[in-house]
Amino acid sequence: MTKVVCPGSFDPVTNGHLDIIERSSHLFDEVVVAVLVNENKAGLFSIEERIEMLGEATSSLPNITVDSFQGLLVDFCRDRGIAAIVKGLRAVSDFDYELQMAQMNDRLSGVDTLFIPTSPAYSYLASSLVKEVAKGGGDVTGLVPNHVLARLNERFGR
Ligand code: ADP
Repeated sequence: MTKVVCPGSFDPVTNGHLDIIERSSHLFDEVVVAVLVNENKAGLFSIEERIEMLGEATSSLPNITVDSFQGLLVDFCRDRGIAAIVKGLRAVSDFDYELQMAQMNDRLSGVDTLFIPTSPAYSYLASSLVKEVAKGGGDVTGLVPNHVLARLNERFGR
């Protein structure tokens, strides 16, 4: 049984995240999607809302569970028997930071990080950009699941 984690803020989950999560679910026995709880950064959606949206978006995939974590990801991995961290890579800009994180996590606990390249259709997609566009009244249909779109519209009073 190989269990991996896809960590992130997921504020909110986008179709770019889901592409990486789904592809991971075909490669590994079990995928834990873990929402980072960052007390210094209030998001648009609460941790509970983000977990709900991820749960709804992944409900058709039986080997995916959604959870949250606080503190070091390596500790979460150790406590849950997680063998590796899976991250999506969009561009060289992601790579610099992700390589540094991967090497630090390896140094801390020996846990490995695996990178999956984004599908070209989603390479420009980030939660922060989706929120900015939705806030300004732009149409983000097709970039997030429809139930996330509905929540964004509701949050921005449309
Ligand atoms: P965001 O940058 O959208 O706020 P997160 O912090 O939630 O993303 O990122 C969680 C993980 O998802 C990271 O590994 C990130 O590289 C990956 N990711 C985010 N957006 C995409 C995308 N469009 N394609 C592939 N991977 C992505």
